[in-house]
Amino acid sequence: MAHDIGIVITDRITVGAVSGNALVGSLRAYPEETSISNSLYGVPAEHLVQRIVDLVQQLGIGEDPSSIGLGMPGIVRNGVVEDSPNLVQFKGIHMQNLVTDAFGRIFGNPRVSIFNDADVMAAGIAAIRGHLDRLVRVWTLGTGIGFGRYPSRDGVWEAGHSVVTLDPKEQFCGCGGKGHLEGIMGHRAMRLRFMDLEPDEIFSEAEAGDSRCVDFVKLWHRALAAATATSIHLDGPGKFFITGTNARFLNLGLLNEYLHEMVKLSPLQGYSAEIVPGGEMVATIGAAVNASQATG
Ligand SMILES: [Zn+2]
Repeated sequence: MAHDIGIVITDRITVGAVSGNALVGSLRAYPEETSISNSLYGVPAEHLVQRIVDLVQQLGIGEDPSSIGLGMPGIVRNGVVEDSPNLVQFKGIHMQNLVTDAFGRIFGNPRVSIFNDADVMAAGIAAIRGHLDRLVRVWTLGTGIGFGRYPSRDGVWEAGHSVVTLDPKEQFCGCGGKGHLEGIMGHRAMRLRFMDLEPDEIFSEAEAGDSRCVDFVKLWHRALAAATATSIHLDGPGKFFITGTNARFLNLGLLNEYLHEMVKLSPLQGYSAEIVPGGEMVATIGAAVNASQATG
């Protein structure tokens, strides 16, 4: 059966064979334990790529894949990892060549494409939701803030670092930039802002009426609305999906209220936001779907 291979590198590596926008068989992962964090930190790129090849061989798919897609964090352009703050060992590496050479030893002339991990999440959600014929954007709310776009398009798309405030005191973004969306919404940034409260406590205290937390929860929603409104003004209206562990804090009604204040031009009104589960499987499917659509 014709199939593509999807590969995602985030906290761990997952690989899967994909056919007809669905997984064939099961995912393979390294490490198998989900509880081990930072397990890929500092492991040389060549070793991780060999680990990926081993995992793909374990899938036991007889036929050669039509294409291979790999999603990973960082700025990835033309097959080169220009920057990857969480996987520094990949910075400057021509990932497309490295992966092509590694798979060349087991498959004949594999067609390999490299994507940002947020973009493969967008492709995966588009695939499982039957949205492959339209523009889909995805916010991933976690330690940082990911922004993915489907269809995949060349560019940087670091919308998690959108400037959403001119207040020079807003400086909690992991990149060091002032006024960034991630500096307000990111899990790490929330912990830096509230040294005495965990993010769960911030949102529960807000519900209980604590004014400092109430103000912050409004700011948190307003920041996402601002970055979403900017994306609408640049790229047009359409569907926004919100996923990631901290999507549980999101009040869609409040987000829509702020969006309504920020987007006024009538041709741009056809937008909507929805919370969806993401996860490794969806991203792995997306990596394969994006690869199957890549030309060259
Ligand atoms: Zn930033």
